[in-house]
Amino acid sequence: MYGVTKEIEFCYGHRLLGHKGKCRHLHGHNATAIIRLESETLDAMGMVCDFGDIGNYVKGWISQEIDHNMLMSEHDPLLPMLRKAGERVYVMDRNPTAENIARMIFHKVATAGYPVVEVALRETGTAQASYKP
Ligand SMILES: [Zn+2]
Repeated sequence: MYGVTKEIEFCYGHRLLGHKGKCRHLHGHNATAIIRLESETLDAMGMVCDFGDIGNYVKGWISQEIDHNMLMSEHDPLLPMLRKAGERVYVMDRNPTAENIARMIFHKVATAGYPVVEVALRETGTAQASYKP
């Protein structure tokens, strides 16, 4: 089995509904998405996937949709206020935890046809969550 890993750095804000600690307040992270691709075969170039291709695709989507954006649960009562104030928001159908953000990125990469096996999200220097089906 061959594998490649690509890391994409981005910034986001969020808050976690129902959290008992400080994560219930609006705050942000300088995060890294760590995308793991695997394949039993290589392409004509001898690669699982060109780092440039996966990097451009994921970075493009992240830049457009979630970088420097506020990731919010669709159930967050702050949503109407943020929208009314002209704030940019990205609405998720679940709590915007590192696990769920990793899952969202996984599905975006998988849908584009890349042989992704796992996506991790390093939220801080010491905390990382991941998703693989
Ligand atoms: Zn957080």
